[in-house]
Amino acid sequence: MSTTWHVLGAGSLGTLWAARLARAGLPVRLILRDHGRLASYQTANGLTLVEQGLAHTYPVVGETSDSPGQIHRLLVACKAYDAQEAVAQLEHRLVPDAELILLQNGLGSQDAVAAQLPQARCIFASSTEGAFRESDWRVVFAGHGYTWLGDARHPTPPLWLDDLQAAGIPHEWSTDILTRLWRKLALNCAINPLTVLYQCRNGELQDHQCEVATLCAELADLLECCGQPAAAEDLQSEVERVIQATAANYSSMYQDVAGARRTEISYLLGYACQAAARHQLSLPHLQQLQARLVRQLSARGLPSD
Ligand code: NAP
Repeated sequence: MSTTWHVLGAGSLGTLWAARLARAGLPVRLILRDHGRLASYQTANGLTLVEQGLAHTYPVVGETSDSPGQIHRLLVACKAYDAQEAVAQLEHRLVPDAELILLQNGLGSQDAVAAQLPQARCIFASSTEGAFRESDWRVVFAGHGYTWLGDARHPTPPLWLDDLQAAGIPHEWSTDILTRLWRKLALNCAINPLTVLYQCRNGELQDHQCEVATLCAELADLLECCGQPAAAEDLQSEVERVIQATAANYSSMYQDVAGARRTEISYLLGYACQAAARHQLSLPHLQQLQARLVRQLSARGLPSD
């Protein structure tokens, strides 16, 4: 009998994972925020995933943190700023050697969760898949991609990667997951805040090449200083490639701000600036970028952390 996949958070990525695991006949349960959200979910008869214009509803069982039953495997699919508290609410149900898969973007939240549960195995993930919520309990699979999974403390891959294979979730076990997460964080820091400040699509950053190049140089210094030289390699050329390849897109941070949603700034640019401060590394342009972004968020009445 397969171990149940408990999915914490029925947003974009949580739904994308839960729907595909359920479709493959694997046992899945969704953990929702509270009884109000559970009641709302129950009227929807399940999670709907829209793929290439076709919608399918999967009747995944919903529950809340105070439901009974132990949790052996938990997919944490909430935002970075919610992860610690959401996991804390479930601590009493987690078996001591539980496995957690952390889908959060950026850095900082994964270590915070791992420190909270020293006996559990925390697997970090970095995903290029894209999904968005069309409405509650209905998610559109917008961009095919890949998910890298890894555990910096134990390089042995878990057996349940077979479940991902069966569910058609493209993935790879990575022995350098931290390098991948740092690299993604650096790409994000070089692109996303500027798209918010200039209110533009990624491609329009081609008009701000000098500023992008200066940020890339500072970010590369930071990566070297943090023991991540591989993540620093050819950073500027990859940033330029991403800007070109995604020219017509609005960055996730731009979309959060446009939708008046809280951003994950503390786990992206904020994390980078804190790491620089810890290493007494002066990165004036990166710090200035953070100050400008914080001002912009505050001016719009959005949280600046
Ligand atoms: P999202 O759509 O906002 O979903 C987050 C979900 O977490 C929401 O459904 C929210 O519940 C739920 N949640 C928050 N606190 C909770 C709690 N205490 N108990 C239960 N549920 C709780 O976010 P997302 O886009 O899936 O992003 C999740 C993470 O993946 C982020 O770090 C993001 O950067 C990363 N990521 C996303 C994508 C993407 O394409 N979406 C791609 C790569 C990486 P409510 O519905 O009640 O608010």
